[in-house]
Amino acid sequence: MAVQGAGRFAPSPSGQLHLGNLRTAVLAWLFARSTGRRFLIRIEDLDRVRAGAEGEQLAELAALGIASDSPVIRQSEQSGRYEQALGRLLDHGLVYECFCTRRDVSDAASAPHGRPGFYPGTCRELSEGERARRRLERRPALRLRSAVDSWSVEDLLAGPFTAPVDDFVLRRNDGVIAYNLAVVLDDAAQGIDQVVRGADLLDSAPRQAYLATLLGLPVPAYAHVPLAVTAEGRRLAKRNGAVTLEDLAELGRTPAEVLDVILASLGLPGGPLGSALTAFDPAGLPRKPWIVDPAALFSTSAVPACKPSAPTDKVFP
Ligand code: GLU
Repeated sequence: MAVQGAGRFAPSPSGQLHLGNLRTAVLAWLFARSTGRRFLIRIEDLDRVRAGAEGEQLAELAALGIASDSPVIRQSEQSGRYEQALGRLLDHGLVYECFCTRRDVSDAASAPHGRPGFYPGTCRELSEGERARRRLERRPALRLRSAVDSWSVEDLLAGPFTAPVDDFVLRRNDGVIAYNLAVVLDDAAQGIDQVVRGADLLDSAPRQAYLATLLGLPVPAYAHVPLAVTAEGRRLAKRNGAVTLEDLAELGRTPAEVLDVILASLGLPGGPLGSALTAFDPAGLPRKPWIVDPAALFSTSAVPACKPSAPTDKVFP
């Protein structure tokens, strides 16, 4: 049987979803459904977990009409798979131990020939003796022995996109599998061939595509969608006012009204979500961040007090 493919939304359960997260989820659902794909939700709980947030997020998504076609998986339950893949990379000589502290890495990046955010390979060629000595002092992180400096992907919204690829971390020194490895393995294991997520992750896509290629896994289609920002151009956060479904419910706003505001911000007719499908056209989507003024958002009419902003390099690299 032909594989149908799938899209996904993969929140980190760190708190309630805000309007920007909800809009990204709506877009991921629309992209998947409009291309005949299944839609999955995955909980990325290797890091940044707040007790209770997972249930809240799933309820918030459900309130907008977004549910997973397969049981929701949690990254914290996949460690066997992650370690297995790490073992395969190790066997191919593609992993090395790194003893650098955060401080070592940032000092190296700010040194005369350093590149900000780019690991310069300090621990790449340590001898076995040196590694044995260093292990007594600090538990190592595991890094990818990358054979490239950069990698390119094709993004459905941003077009061809190239970013640096360094020897990025695969397993942190506290033993936690790094996001870049987990996301690549999970997307492949779940048959996800379309990744729609916030534009803040566009920079990570080349690293992930390179890693997938090394592991012999297919590279998904990418669409990095504009973030929601405040009037000052900062990424939307809970402290910016009434930006979650719960906050808005306290102001008497129903999830259906919130969905309408999100759809209107995308130039789409009001909900339910399924009825926006026929009008959905990725080519017509706003390419600029969504400016959200929570105080004004629902104040006068169903027309949102938000508009595409001037581009800001903070949110769309
Ligand atoms: N868990 C990530 C986040 O909530 C998203 C990762 C992804 O979509 O690849 O920011």
